[in-house]
Amino acid sequence: MHSNWEQVIGQERVKKTLQSAISHQRLSHAYFFWGGGGVGKDALAIEFARTLLCHTQTVTACGVCPSCKKMETLQHPNLKLIFPLPGGDSDKNEKSDDGEGLENDVFEEVRRQTAEKAGNPYFHIDIPKARFILIRSIRQIKKESSMTGAEQGKKIFIIFDADAMNDASANSLLKVLEEPLEGVHFLLVSSRKDAVKPTIISRCQMVQCPMLTDEEIAAALIARLRVEEKQAHIVSRLANGNFTRAQELLGNDIAKFRTDAVQFLRSVLGSSSMKLFEEQEEYFTGNKRDNAEQLLTMLMVWFRDTIVVREGSHRNILNVDQETDLKKFVQNFGTKNLEACMSSVERALGLLRRNVYLPLVMLSLSVHLRRILHAK
Ligand SMILES: [Zn+2]
Repeated sequence: MHSNWEQVIGQERVKKTLQSAISHQRLSHAYFFWGGGGVGKDALAIEFARTLLCHTQTVTACGVCPSCKKMETLQHPNLKLIFPLPGGDSDKNEKSDDGEGLENDVFEEVRRQTAEKAGNPYFHIDIPKARFILIRSIRQIKKESSMTGAEQGKKIFIIFDADAMNDASANSLLKVLEEPLEGVHFLLVSSRKDAVKPTIISRCQMVQCPMLTDEEIAAALIARLRVEEKQAHIVSRLANGNFTRAQELLGNDIAKFRTDAVQFLRSVLGSSSMKLFEEQEEYFTGNKRDNAEQLLTMLMVWFRDTIVVREGSHRNILNVDQETDLKKFVQNFGTKNLEACMSSVERALGLLRRNVYLPLVMLSLSVHLRRILHAK
């Protein structure tokens, strides 16, 4: 299970590039994995590290050698994970070495989350109150990379959320990157490339990780988490190319988002706009962005299903338990331009993701939907 590239969903092109670098012995000292959230950047970096450290020295980690065994828990003396930690960053109270500079509860949290990451590379390490990658974490890299440890072989430093480096940390890392040491590799990971100093980026080989497709996410949900097929398809749509998000959504109540979407549509179709604003107040005034995104995605799935029902292919309905409601809707609105409704929702979703003001997006969408569905 933990032993090879299969653990990373999709990303076949990236895997090939990394494997080819290993087989041609053309390894860079530093890599920068970038792309959207939850596409598998961390997973790729971890798998790359596992492969580089494996005693077989092939393009796929064996999973059984002592190094691979240690990698199963991410507790490998030649691997160091760096991520944002809470706490101040003054030089005065600098402490070093694993955990010594951390409060007990933080240390415990780091241990717990690292263990979770080891079991699931799509889990995002998020230590409470952590804002920055601390300079003492970077100083430790400096110290450890130049030490010859008990274990021979390569040394790998993975820096998750590399964009969370403040100026001091970034400058300190830059110095390390400027003096590459034999056998030491840095794997930086970020979904906000623009927030990282160009001088750091210029020292790294860039590894762009594209968004996952809905199909890849759905297949992974079914295969890994035994999610029921229809549910997997709905969740994959809601996840928008982000497997971490898909996992989080599973813990959420999809049925509730669906009810919200239908309720929203009812309000839109209702008699007065006054009532619409009243009933859907939170979308027209508040800043419930996350909710809005889920609402719109659910609405898109709904219109997609109405088109499916209208075509008579009921077997392909995603909202299986809503078949009766869908049929009723199609009886009333089947002659309207449902495809245009779907595009309107899609456009609204796009605007929302580009940070357009929420009330404006919702207002414009309501007007459009109303016009299409009430057309003579
Ligand atoms: Zn191995």
